[in-house]
Parts: sequence; C-alpha cells; structure tokens
Amino acid sequence: MLCPRCRTENREGRRFCSKCAAPLAVVCASCGFTNDPGDEFCGGCAQSLRAGTPMPRKFPSPESYGKGSKTSSSRLSSDLHSALS
Ligand SMILES: [Zn+2]
Ligand SMILES: [Zn+2]
Repeated sequence: MLCPRCRTENREGRRFCSKCAAPLAVVCASCGFTNDPGDEFCGGCAQSLRAGTPMPRKFPSPESYGKGSKTSSSRLSSDLHSALS
C-alpha cells in the first residue's frame, strides 16, 4: 500500500510507513477491523475511530424518551388502536 504522506510503497499489512512512520491503516479498537487512514468510522462496527471521541449523535433510549409523557403516549396508542379497529 502507498503511504499517504510520502508516497512510499509499503508492504501490505503494515500499519505504519517504513519511511516516515505515517499511519497506513487504522485498526478499530472495538472489533479489530482494518480501516484506511482518514476514515472516521469503523467499517466493521461503525464505531468512531477518533480516539476518545464519542459517537457524534446519541439517540435517546426509548425509556428516557417516554419519561414524563407516559399518559399522553399511552392515550395516543389507545387512540391509534381504536382508529385501527
Ligand atoms: Zn511515508
Ligand atoms: Zn470496529
């Protein structure tokens, strides 16, 4: 593979350039998938490859979403059921 920094041809499987030590591949810490340098998310498990950076957008879990609006959501579902039947 070609070094993205100095254009040196490196043997396949190397993770760092033999001439300038630039990263040639980014191995996912979560699943071990080998990604290209510059990739921001793992091709194997979609984990962020930027060390220490959490997922850019965290969706609220269904539990926290329903908190506080339990009555209205249950009323909505019962309305839906009556509308369908
Ligand atoms: Zn290089
Ligand atoms: Zn991964």
